[in-house]
Amino acid sequence: MTYDTELKLFIDGSWRSGEGRDAFTVVNPATGGGIGEVPLASTADLDEALAAAQRAYPLWRATDVEKRSAILRKAGALLRERADAIARLLTQEQGKPLAEARGEVIGAASMFDWYAEEIKRDYGRTLVRPAGQRAIVLREPVGVVATFTPWNFPIYLLAKKVAAALAAGCAVISKPPEETPGCTGALARALDDAGLPKGVFQLVHGVPDQVSRHLIGSRIVRKFSFTGSVPVGKALMKLAADSMTRVTLELGGHAPVLIFDDCDLDKTLDMVVPQKFRNAGQVCVSPTRFYVQESIYDAFITGFAARTAKVVTGDGLADTTSMGPLANARRPAAISALVDDAKAKGARVMAGGERGEGGFFFQPTLLADVPLDADIMNNEPFGPVAVTARFKDFDDAIAQANRLPFGLAAFAFTENGRRANLLGDAIEAGMIGINSFGVSSADSPFGGVKDSGFGSEGGKEGLETYQVVKAIHQA
Ligand code: NAD
Repeated sequence: MTYDTELKLFIDGSWRSGEGRDAFTVVNPATGGGIGEVPLASTADLDEALAAAQRAYPLWRATDVEKRSAILRKAGALLRERADAIARLLTQEQGKPLAEARGEVIGAASMFDWYAEEIKRDYGRTLVRPAGQRAIVLREPVGVVATFTPWNFPIYLLAKKVAAALAAGCAVISKPPEETPGCTGALARALDDAGLPKGVFQLVHGVPDQVSRHLIGSRIVRKFSFTGSVPVGKALMKLAADSMTRVTLELGGHAPVLIFDDCDLDKTLDMVVPQKFRNAGQVCVSPTRFYVQESIYDAFITGFAARTAKVVTGDGLADTTSMGPLANARRPAAISALVDDAKAKGARVMAGGERGEGGFFFQPTLLADVPLDADIMNNEPFGPVAVTARFKDFDDAIAQANRLPFGLAAFAFTENGRRANLLGDAIEAGMIGINSFGVSSADSPFGGVKDSGFGSEGGKEGLETYQVVKAIHQA
């Protein structure tokens, strides 16, 4: 299947091709071969993007909310219409199976649908004052926004930030991941075709460190939102201090999953195994540290291994594939190192454990009895590896779940309603799924605590993150 797209920058309403610019080779992770060249923004391009956003911002902010909403709704509709073609680009660039890619594009469209409506209900507040006096609290757009998004859900994560920021009335400069420029370019195309005025949205690929320094360091960008790793998030936050730029950081997790002995074991296993290997485990809320109550530990790992053996790894474009390759050449190497370290420290390999053939494949892997000092118990693998250990009772389970400096998502399986409530209270995480993995939706806040970052995406909180408040007092 051909990789059928033009890779360009989008600045001030015009598409810029590669002439005279440096380029990055886009690689299909299923083969390891190059499939395209994406142009990288020069400093002059970034300055043009900043100037265009600065010009467009006051006009977009002043645009009637019905019109802003209609453009966002149209962009969502175009993404749905084009979902099959965009999904094929995504699979070729990132590796995930086609059905997952299509689901991601539909999820991106749902962000535009939701924020197109939510902005209409952005009422502000009126405070109680003596007769004849008024005090009101308004929420206003923060200004020009920069977004930095990763390669694991390249179109969904971009849409989550951009839909909320545009709904709020901000102008946006986005740096998507260079690995997946075709599908993110399709999002820019949908906004352009939906009638978004020029300069309101720009898409700039580039060398990540150069682009983020330039944009965050400018006095034009008033807020940025980053999704990616903890070290990069911390580095960007330091840059933001100098320019007093507001920040939302959605960083990594290392999600614990507590499996209590009163859960419905077969049903639980049927849910957890596909979730673990979704997007080859490259999900910031991927279930990873499985703590299982002692009495059902052996049955759990036996059932997990049997289901893992049925996962079909291959090119995401093939109908039979249930798990694709990892997204880039760095990932199999990183995961091999974590698995080898765990084995050396006494973990048992119950399934997989090796790199696959060709491309950037790694086998779906299950490790049992993983000791606490194994690197993989402490650092997010961000790959197709489940690690398991035993727990004795509720307090032990909570201690294990909360022992790391991360707190993005956590999951628990139990049929005991009171225990479910206590778990919800005791686990330190931004999102908790109990008998469920559905912790990300357009209408609910998504974000972490501790080293997993701060600020929310999704829900009304996701809109507020692109707003500032102003109180007006009238005597
Ligand atoms: P990385 O830290 O180098 O990059 C992560 C993302 O941040 C990439 O998209 C990259 O383009 C971007 N980035 C890197 N440096 C940047 C900078 N200075 N300014 C702006 N953007 C920058 O790591 P990686 O090798 O791509 O991925 C490894 C780890 O990153 C994973 O193990 C995982 O923990 C984390 N990660 C998390 C998420 C998430 O959804 N939270 C997504 C992707 C990667």
